[in-house]
Amino acid sequence: MDEICTQIKSKLSLIVNEDNFKTWIEPIKFLEYRDCKCFVLVPNAFFRDWIIENFEPLFRALLKDLTGTEVKIEYLVKKEEKAKKQDLTKKDSTVKRPISVHSDLFNPKYTFESFVVGSSNQFANAACLAVANNPGKVYNPLFVYGGVGLGKTHLLNGIGNFLLKNGSIRPTRICFITAEEFTNELINSLRYEKMDDFRNRFRKMDVLLIDDIQFIAGKERTQAEFFHTFNALYDNAKQIVVTSDKFPRDIINFEERLRSRFEWGLIADIQPPDLETKVAILNKKAELENIHLPQDVAFYLATNIEDNVRVLEGSLIRLSAFASLHNVPIGIDLAKEVMGHIIKEKRKEITLDMILKEVANHFSLKITDLKANRRVKSIIVPRQIAMYLCRKLTSSSLVSIGEKFGGKDHATIIHSIRKIEDEIKVKKEVGELVEKLEDKIKST
Ligand code: ADP
Ligand code: MG
Repeated sequence: MDEICTQIKSKLSLIVNEDNFKTWIEPIKFLEYRDCKCFVLVPNAFFRDWIIENFEPLFRALLKDLTGTEVKIEYLVKKEEKAKKQDLTKKDSTVKRPISVHSDLFNPKYTFESFVVGSSNQFANAACLAVANNPGKVYNPLFVYGGVGLGKTHLLNGIGNFLLKNGSIRPTRICFITAEEFTNELINSLRYEKMDDFRNRFRKMDVLLIDDIQFIAGKERTQAEFFHTFNALYDNAKQIVVTSDKFPRDIINFEERLRSRFEWGLIADIQPPDLETKVAILNKKAELENIHLPQDVAFYLATNIEDNVRVLEGSLIRLSAFASLHNVPIGIDLAKEVMGHIIKEKRKEITLDMILKEVANHFSLKITDLKANRRVKSIIVPRQIAMYLCRKLTSSSLVSIGEKFGGKDHATIIHSIRKIEDEIKVKKEVGELVEKLEDKIKST
């Protein structure tokens, strides 16, 4: 069994270029293969995410080749963090838990140079560049929002890399942290009574870059703490950049005072890329990875793969892995063979109408009942479920959902969504019903 682990590393050494191998493959350990699972030890969480994003398709392809079956990969992160926490519990310990402010946390590949600009992301790119050139002076705070895999984290790293490269800011004065890490740091600091340290560390920053701020929605204490950090930095003209998967007003359970702070600065959106931008991104990626990518293949991938750049890049890596494995050049036939099933699986876009129809059907109501204002219980609940599903299954804004439901305001929609969220938590049957409806809508 361990043979698989040895073999995969030696295969990787043949496929992955030397630099990448040294940086990303050597430090990881394929621990064990059993029950169609391969356990991989990685040095830290950042590393793990990078591997998942950039190498997992290749690992899976190789493992499938070696074992003849689909293999799941499980990552284990080395437990240095735990050791440090234990140090802290010793009363007189002087060890401080490091906050993730280190310059090496910026992904060296995510720069402005490697970011392909098209009409969908032009504005966000320009705003980030302006901020990187003039931190704290032009757009503060800068709020970048957009769907999954559209380049938010890339741009945030771009700012960080730029600032460090041109030396305008000391590495110890930039903090790049995900909202989830911020929350975890906060919890730890509360637990070990280190709140003063926590506050001081953030507040002495010149630039604070927070990724995926939507994560703190619903977390009151984190929001309060972030609010104070925000004010302290803002009052001193320190640059704050946050990213989110939603527009501030569309983040549910988000404090009003934070929302309005974000609106003080500049809000820039990233839209899904158009076909030409997708092709340009593929070409750039191929160039960076030394992959020969014929244009018909680039167009084939760009046309057929959903609007998520991460998935698009993954498809290129997968294709290139297959080509290396079988020692054939990348061509349109290979692309169709390798990507065929993924492309077929591509889901049809779910529309608000589809949801209304399914929900009305299920409860034997008319669609107009769902849209109207009649307040009888037998209609209210289905209506709330429909609103909840509209929010969950589509990217429509609260405003457009409100319009669909006969012109209701966004507070009504939020209220309904929360209601169903709460019900799901306490009533098993509601959860099951919603799930059943979801499956039905997805399969229509
Ligand atoms: P998000 O944070 O918005 O979910 P990421 O920043 O992680 O998305 O981007 C996903 C992947 O797509 C990354 O590998 C990133 O480099 C790449 N990517 C996204 N947009 C672009 C672009 N315009 N040009 C080049 N690469 C891009
Ligand atoms: Mg991201």
